[in-house]
Amino acid sequence: MLIDATFYRNWALNEIGYNPANLQYKPSDYEQCVKFSDIRVAEALQTAVDAFYPDTIFWSETTSQLYGEGEYDNLEYGYRLVEQVNIPDRTQLIVSGLLPTADPTLTERRFPKRSYLIRAESEQLLAEIEDRFNDTSAIRLLSGVCFRQDGEFKVNQRQGPLVLINLPAYDYTLFDPQEFRRPYNGRTLRAADFEFLRGCPYTCTYCVETVIQSYYNCTESAGKGVLKGAKEYLRAKSPENIIAEMEWLHEVRGVTLFRSQDTNFLSIHRGVLTAVAEKIERCNWDIQLYIETRPDGINSTTVKLLNRLHDDGVGMGIELAAEGFREAHLNRFSPIERITNAFRVLREAGIKRTAYNIIGLLEQDEAMILSTIRFNQSIDPDNITVAFCSPFLGTKLQHRGVEIKDFDDYEYNVDAQLRTLSKSTGVSKELLEFYKANFVRLAREGLENLASIKKEAGIAA
Ligand code: SF4
Repeated sequence: MLIDATFYRNWALNEIGYNPANLQYKPSDYEQCVKFSDIRVAEALQTAVDAFYPDTIFWSETTSQLYGEGEYDNLEYGYRLVEQVNIPDRTQLIVSGLLPTADPTLTERRFPKRSYLIRAESEQLLAEIEDRFNDTSAIRLLSGVCFRQDGEFKVNQRQGPLVLINLPAYDYTLFDPQEFRRPYNGRTLRAADFEFLRGCPYTCTYCVETVIQSYYNCTESAGKGVLKGAKEYLRAKSPENIIAEMEWLHEVRGVTLFRSQDTNFLSIHRGVLTAVAEKIERCNWDIQLYIETRPDGINSTTVKLLNRLHDDGVGMGIELAAEGFREAHLNRFSPIERITNAFRVLREAGIKRTAYNIIGLLEQDEAMILSTIRFNQSIDPDNITVAFCSPFLGTKLQHRGVEIKDFDDYEYNVDAQLRTLSKSTGVSKELLEFYKANFVRLAREGLENLASIKKEAGIAA
């Protein structure tokens, strides 16, 4: 049984109002297209637990339901919710996610009331635990599991990367049908998050991807921010499974927008993408894709393929314009000319471009925020987003953030779209909030009126 908490009013935050107000996203009629329940989500969960009397409670989060990617905190939010509910003694609580993958000891300290922690990918391991439900000793032998035994916390050896080719399609029928409603470029469409591949061949210092790479012992660098042996680490679904899943979503659920959640779409094997493109063409599907990829992979050949895939939009991380800083602090090597070229080539191909920017990076100063705004102005993306730097546990950036006291060693309530947790004295929280609210406006209108806009906002010039 799945309790889908998305549409409980006391659970959801009004991101819908926030990001159109700062011009990151176009307003849409999304709120008129979905219905929220006024029942408290804890009450709904209690009713379900009483009726279902579960062997196991496990929680997770789908990503990008709206705009942000708040899944990082799902363990903590779910834990706080479960704490409000009377759970039968026989029910085991299983948690997974990035926190135990990065630091199982800290996670166990923060969330003591649970039976097992799963590190790294959980789909297969969760099924293996369930298969051994009445056999605690057998569960305790499984790689990837952590548990407490006789007062001692045990961290089992690591599990290997999940082979995606063996994974069956997600069962989307479990979710509230409203999940397929999504605001996109000013319209509310039927959309689904979709996964072709897991893993990224790059190693940006702030990214949760590096935590997963470390867990699987993939830490060797090939230089310039690229992972050595990345091919073995990247895992794609089979073209047959991808096509079958897309077909079901489009023809049965009426999905027309596939929001690819792949961290770097153009890392997907060309053979896989060509097979999907051929299917779309053969069946004349009226669908669109939205993907994210590095500007480095955009050229005339890849753009042709994206057109064949009916790709409507590409999101690309600029992060910040200062190239030397980006390379030294973020381990991210994308020359300015290559980013500029990617934005130009996509525009010529009729594909919408979204620029992702970050503010509040460690040791970033205000001049770097301004140069990033100017750079956005020069490449003129169709959409501009700006996120607060988030200290994801276990990343190099997080460690450095603790060292220089910009962040605490464990930050709760991380959400790059909604709030900054930075204690930096270099660029204050107040100034970061100002730039979050005005970044897009300044990139569109220019910086000439910056002083007066700051004054209006009560910020010292
Ligand atoms: S390219 Fe993107 S997904 Fe890959 S490591 Fe960098 S930020 Fe993460």
